[in-house]
Amino acid sequence: MDSFKHYLDKTGEIGVVDTVTECTATVSGLPGVMPSELVFFENGQSGEVLSLHQNSVEVLLFSQEPLLIGTKAARTGEELTIPVGGELLGCVIDALGRPISCLKPPKTPKTRRTLTSDSLGIETRASVRKPLETGVALVDMLVPLGRGQRELIIGDRKTGKTSFLLQTLYNQAKNGTICIYGAIGRKQAEIKTVQNYFIKLGVMDKMIIIAAGAEDPAGLIYLTPYSACAIAEYFRDQGIDTVIVLDDMTTHAKFYREICLLAKRFPGRDSYPVDIFYAHARMLEKGGNFKLDVPGGVSSESSITILPVIQTAGGDLSGYIQTNMMSMTDGHIYFDSDLFASGKRPAVNPFLSVTRVGRQAQSSLKREINREILAFLTNYEKLQSFVHFGAELTEDVRLSLAKGERIYSFFEQNEAESVPSNLAVYVLSLIWLDYFQIENTDQLRQEYQKIFERYTKEPVYRKKIDSLVDESQKFSELLDKIKNTK
Ligand code: ATP
Ligand code: MG
Repeated sequence: MDSFKHYLDKTGEIGVVDTVTECTATVSGLPGVMPSELVFFENGQSGEVLSLHQNSVEVLLFSQEPLLIGTKAARTGEELTIPVGGELLGCVIDALGRPISCLKPPKTPKTRRTLTSDSLGIETRASVRKPLETGVALVDMLVPLGRGQRELIIGDRKTGKTSFLLQTLYNQAKNGTICIYGAIGRKQAEIKTVQNYFIKLGVMDKMIIIAAGAEDPAGLIYLTPYSACAIAEYFRDQGIDTVIVLDDMTTHAKFYREICLLAKRFPGRDSYPVDIFYAHARMLEKGGNFKLDVPGGVSSESSITILPVIQTAGGDLSGYIQTNMMSMTDGHIYFDSDLFASGKRPAVNPFLSVTRVGRQAQSSLKREINREILAFLTNYEKLQSFVHFGAELTEDVRLSLAKGERIYSFFEQNEAESVPSNLAVYVLSLIWLDYFQIENTDQLRQEYQKIFERYTKEPVYRKKIDSLVDESQKFSELLDKIKNTK
């Protein structure tokens, strides 16, 4: 009510609600209103202008309280803004920045940012050159990511996408990166699980969860990824690296479609609004590695890594939103439902996954190992099909098959495990050298567990492995060094 009176006095334009749908209202009598302007209603509700018609405007509503026809509306002359700042860390908030549940008593940050700001230009951008470790060995070794990359996480439902992202965020938060998880139209139970996961692992103080449940107003679900980007931009300007997860953008596209159809916007392909590519591409443009002058006057690099999720149906990668997203990201990690069904965890298909800028952030050693292992596994897959024909195998082929099986078994990883990439390089080198004298892959896991435990518990051992890997320029050099130390 107060806001309504305040803005009415300020702008002097009063409109009236003509029609109301589930998430939009048509308001007439606001001649000077601008696109994306914030509008207040007499009953205290607010909304954002979506589209302008000749004598009326379509307003997106941010709550599900009933709005009556004839309710008065006031312009604000301002764009929608949300509070951004370190005070939000440890909180689950809604898309307007209002706290839902926090670790400490919530405080509202003083700084506010608009959700429609343009992304920074080319002069502020630096190339992606720092690696982003996910803690998932398969991804770090075969589809490596870099800070500032926009990597699509794509796959059918229930193939382990969220689990992988949670592992990644945990691994990042543990090392001081600020992580923002945007839950877009997820179930409340799922959001709670995500929150509990981070609280249990003790990294919630580095996290902000923007939660829009499936039953929340469509307006808030639609705004969630924009809010996530605005908050990340605040931290970027402070010189802090951030990672954003948008889980998932398929739902975002569906809600955007629903809202636009209700607002009588012209529908395009598959009834999606004609500007959906533009809207999503503009959002993802906010990701990148930036070189900025941060407070204190020093120039520093800070990055926004964006990991949007897209759901496919029946493994079909050719859908409209799916292909759009692929073309506006720097690669994708494909979660394969067939691999998931066959028991592979994580069910990432390395042959159908792409990383466009991640490899350049890797050390030359890791790049070489990446190439070697990928080539070896491609060959292994071919050999496997021969085995199905029952062909007689030579000793060489048998050894290659055993090695392939061991590599895959090493890549099997539980949700709760996080594998440092140096350790992964070390263990893969041992497998490469046929170092493990074992009968089956279960024994390999036990051997590997022993190394893992030593690595985490014995600083001297960890230092030895780290310097072994960090100081080697080439794979052959590393293998020689390992042979000499054994
Ligand atoms: P949705 O489409 O519903 O978002 P999703 O693709 O995000 O699903 P998850 O919810 O992450 O999939 O995972 C599905 C199931 O697979 C969960 O029960 C999870 O515990 C299990 N799972 C995923 N990854 C692993 C893993 N690495 N190890 C063991 N279990 C896993
Ligand atoms: Mg999920």
